[in-house]
Amino acid sequence: MILFKKTDDLHRYLARKRNAYQKIGFVPTMGALHEGHLSLLEKSTRFNECTVCSIFVNPTQFNDPADFKKYPVTLEKDISLLEHQKTDILFLPGVDEIYHDGTTQQHHYDLGEIEHKLEGHYRPGHFQGVCQVMHRLLNIVQPDNLYMGRKDYQQCMVIKKLQALIDSQSVLHVCATQREADGLALSSRNLRLNEQARAAAPAIYQALLQIKRGLQTGPLAPLVSEAKKLLEQHGFRIDYVTVADSTTLDEVQEWDGRQSLTALIAAYIHEVRLIDNMGLASES
Ligand code: AMP
Repeated sequence: MILFKKTDDLHRYLARKRNAYQKIGFVPTMGALHEGHLSLLEKSTRFNECTVCSIFVNPTQFNDPADFKKYPVTLEKDISLLEHQKTDILFLPGVDEIYHDGTTQQHHYDLGEIEHKLEGHYRPGHFQGVCQVMHRLLNIVQPDNLYMGRKDYQQCMVIKKLQALIDSQSVLHVCATQREADGLALSSRNLRLNEQARAAAPAIYQALLQIKRGLQTGPLAPLVSEAKKLLEQHGFRIDYVTVADSTTLDEVQEWDGRQSLTALIAAYIHEVRLIDNMGLASES
């Protein structure tokens, strides 16, 4: 694996790969790598001659500075996992390398309504920060294929929108959520869970499953309130539990038996904020 810290060096190296008709796959991450990240890398290495993984804890997407400060960093372990996964390139830029002109936002991305729903509502500015870094990374790497996780469902929708705005030619592949045996979605933030919080954390998955299993045509409010009750019994402080249209993320009050639905949850356990989602009915 080759490690690049400088944008220009990486850009030049990848231009040579492109000229040699090698396909470039890209997996952007914030590090503290786990099996979820590795599943994206596995797809990329299978379908592309050259796989680039970036590790960059992007300051502009954290609306809470404490969350940014506490974000786990496990670089040595990450490097050995990446080598094991046969990743070709690790891009490890410093903040100045990504934000030459400082982190103050220079460009506003017109993301439409999706920006202000759910995650956007609870984390103001978050998706603008995500777009700031992804715009820059996509310009640097110019991948043929981009791999992202369904775990961050709304983020995938935002990136699709960003791709249209910046006319990116990369194909976005949304990959399945990887879970622990007890259902907890893998997340770098899980490293911050103490024993008690870790034991409670799978309740998010159970709440999603409960919604999925209970789904029937008609009002959805009883399902949502049962899911909230389950989370509260396990000590969660809820940001949202919702059943939404899978393509717009508008909350759905009554199901007609046909609409494609996704259940989404964001909740705190012991000050660690976890998110997860599950396709219902026709979704998976
Ligand atoms: P992060 O490092 O959390 O920014 O995540 C980097 C990429 O990995 C994003 O596209 C995430 O959606 C994806 N990802 C995170 N957790 C999982 C998971 N449990 N399963 C699959 N993909 C994931």
